[in-house]
Amino acid sequence: MKKVFRDPAGLRQRLDAGRAAGKTVGFVPTMGALHAGHLSLIRAAAAENDLTVVSIFVNPKQFGPEEDFEAYPRDWERDVELAEGAGADLIYMPSAEAMYPPGFATTVEVEGLTDVLCGAPTSRGAAHFRGVTTVVCKLLNAAGPDRAYFGQKDAQQVAVIKRMVRDLDLPVEIRVMPTVREPDGLAMSSRNGYLSAEERRLAVAISKALRGAEDSLLADADIEAALAAARSVLTDAGIEPEYLEARDPETLAPVTELGERPVLIAVAAPVGPARLIDNIVFEPIAAAQQKSPAMQGGSPR
Ligand code: AMP
Repeated sequence: MKKVFRDPAGLRQRLDAGRAAGKTVGFVPTMGALHAGHLSLIRAAAAENDLTVVSIFVNPKQFGPEEDFEAYPRDWERDVELAEGAGADLIYMPSAEAMYPPGFATTVEVEGLTDVLCGAPTSRGAAHFRGVTTVVCKLLNAAGPDRAYFGQKDAQQVAVIKRMVRDLDLPVEIRVMPTVREPDGLAMSSRNGYLSAEERRLAVAISKALRGAEDSLLADADIEAALAAARSVLTDAGIEPEYLEARDPETLAPVTELGERPVLIAVAAPVGPARLIDNIVFEPIAAAQQKSPAMQGGSPR
């Protein structure tokens, strides 16, 4: 049976048939160049749904004019094979013309959450997230999934997509999967392939910096000190972050004092030709339970 679909109508027709037979649909949007991070999302979708759809589309609307749209790695045959190996039943690979036909004029924008961190004018800018929300909204409309899977690696994207789904009453459950890392801690990314051996060695400082922030928060619950600890790890590796900030993972409001809410520590940094991002979410309540297991009734580490 046909597995690869190139336009929304064909995909929808095939999935309507599955839905009519009572099957649930899981959906994993990607830009291809699949790695173990993507495959973890596909495996989760396959485990939780009857039909798993993976989209592969390098979305021109989310790249700025100075960014790496042309250079972005593309290997469709390998991606289809990997996606199927991880449990994808159907692949949606629309052409740019099918996605954005002549006269295309509509944009989906989530305000407020998209002009900070990666959306700040000094970073990728809010246009990046307009591109993301517009394409994800279209992809969700084409696939009509019960559940859609996103990686925590793109923490701001998760916050923005969840808000869009809530605001627009989109009938889909957003599932967020943990960041998959290389053995040394570097978050997997299609852009890691841009790094030379030396840059790859330095890049590990990004995850190390986040671990440093986490250790600092565990020790004295001070956001400023945690950010300073992370920054010094980056500086030692000669990395100047584009941003390194503490924010609420849901609203993305800045956080200056640790309370009971989880705190997102997010970093973006250029390493050689690559712009890399990573984050952790620190959970004060879970951390307090780990620290004093006897008092809190948790189990010791
Ligand atoms: P991309 O192809 O970069 O647009 O990513 C597609 C999906 O894979 C997004 O939901 C990402 O957050 C997710 N993803 C990318 N890298 C990782 C990773 N290292 N671990 C988990 N998910 C990831």
